[in-house]
Amino acid sequence: MSQLTTPLRRNSGSRPRVVIVGGGFAGLHAGKGLGKLPVDVTLIDRRNHHTFQPLLYQVALAVLSPAEIAAPIRSVFRHQPNIQVLMDEVVGIDASAQTVSLGSGACVGYDYLVLAAGATHSYFGHNEWAPLAPGLKTIEDATEIRRRVLLAFELAERQKQEHGWHPPLNFVVIGGGPTGVELAGAICDISRFYMKHDFRHINPEKSQVMLLDGGPRLLAAYPEDLSAKAEKELADLGVEVHTGCHVTGIEPGRVQTGGPKGIGAVEAAVILWAAGVEASPLGKMLGAATDHRGCVVVDNQLNPPGLPTVFVTGDLSHFEQDGKQVPGVAQPAMQMGDYVAKVIRADISGSIRPGFRYFDKGDMATIGRMSAVANVKWPFKAHMSGWMAWATWLVVHIFFLIGFRNRIAVMSNWIWTYFAFARSARLITGDQNLPGWQEQVKAGPPQPTDAVAVGDSAGKSQAAD
Ligand SMILES: Cc1cc2nc3c(=O)[nH]c(=O)nc-3n(C[C@H](O)[C@H](O)[C@H](O)COP(=O)(O)OP(=O)(O)OC[C@H]3O[C@@H](n4cnc5c(N)ncnc54)[C@H](O)[C@@H]3O)c2cc1C
Repeated sequence: MSQLTTPLRRNSGSRPRVVIVGGGFAGLHAGKGLGKLPVDVTLIDRRNHHTFQPLLYQVALAVLSPAEIAAPIRSVFRHQPNIQVLMDEVVGIDASAQTVSLGSGACVGYDYLVLAAGATHSYFGHNEWAPLAPGLKTIEDATEIRRRVLLAFELAERQKQEHGWHPPLNFVVIGGGPTGVELAGAICDISRFYMKHDFRHINPEKSQVMLLDGGPRLLAAYPEDLSAKAEKELADLGVEVHTGCHVTGIEPGRVQTGGPKGIGAVEAAVILWAAGVEASPLGKMLGAATDHRGCVVVDNQLNPPGLPTVFVTGDLSHFEQDGKQVPGVAQPAMQMGDYVAKVIRADISGSIRPGFRYFDKGDMATIGRMSAVANVKWPFKAHMSGWMAWATWLVVHIFFLIGFRNRIAVMSNWIWTYFAFARSARLITGDQNLPGWQEQVKAGPPQPTDAVAVGDSAGKSQAAD
């Protein structure tokens, strides 16, 4: 095993070695905070870029290009000489030897370890659903979703031109949290506003977007009035919302549902997954307690019990405050990263470590063009919806985007998109296959008895055009 970047053991008198795993919100904030301290930092990420995940859905629905919401991690730290960046995957952690091992075979020693490897989507034990219903976590996921959504319209246009009909253009989004709500609203936007004049044989406005959730309401973490507003605004846009509806199976081009308000089988041109989250497997390698999603249970200094030099931050941590678990969203991740730098500073100066306290400023989610819901908690308290919430959402997201160039690019793209009704990133890259499409074409036009009986408008009218 080779030894990389820092000695495996610290020489007496040398500076503390800090290893940060993950260049997401938590890792970047920890790195920024450590930049002026007498420490040697190695930040390891398996990707070369930080992704601004809250805007991923805009890449998936062709508003923004990938580079506008990502920043090379190396360039983020270009003015902090005590931080070096390694592009590699951490595959093992030995907390007693204080080392992490990398996919390349190298090993890195640490005095402090900041674990900020985040979480990914969970298919609740049905990983075979992943290729049929992609989730949204990375730039690659976003471009794959963009490929599928745009390709569905292209295939329908070609099929209609050649054969006079096409399989139903149903888009099924599974999971009614913020990501599912944003995806469903954005698919409606692109079909209702941005592509309606672009096809000659199909009418994109007649495509059907369905949002399925097993719980009693959308946006379960939001106050009830905002959930209700979100549902109404989605319905106004044309999204068919089904709560209390459990997904029991996914096959190519078809979703099977059950539960109190199950709707049977739904044919789908595109199926998207926004339903579950599971923590990075790195958390379990510490040997500390984890919760049902694999998040590491930490104390008020973000340490797993008995490991005072290991900090677990962001989506990978399970931190409780006032009897409630702090949510896996961007603000806690940023604040945890800042906090870790403060603790290491306190250790170096021999002062007492402060405790971590999450300062919640609120949550917001968009619901398509010029509409959003916002549960504002700071600097004032308010439940906002409609265009006011949407305008607030725009400002907040521009503010937190990494990189001045990205801010300018995103702002100008938004102006172009929202006022000129045009989308600049409508590119289909990759292959031209859609799971289940060919099978539906072979099966022929839907018959009145076929499964697609979702709502009154589901796909059939479109297919019969
Ligand atoms: C589609 C989507 C929309 C969202 N929208 C919002 C929103 O509107 N508002 C909000 O507050 N939050 C939102 N979130 C949640 C928010 O993005 C996360 O809470 C936040 O990114 C967590 O930060 P993190 O640093 O813990 O992890 P991440 O940002 O996920 O970063 C983890 C990093 O670790 C790296 N990594 C993982 N495993 C390894 C390994 N083994 N070796 C090396 N590197 C590794 C990854 O490449 C990644 O760069 C959204 C999330 C998603 C997916």
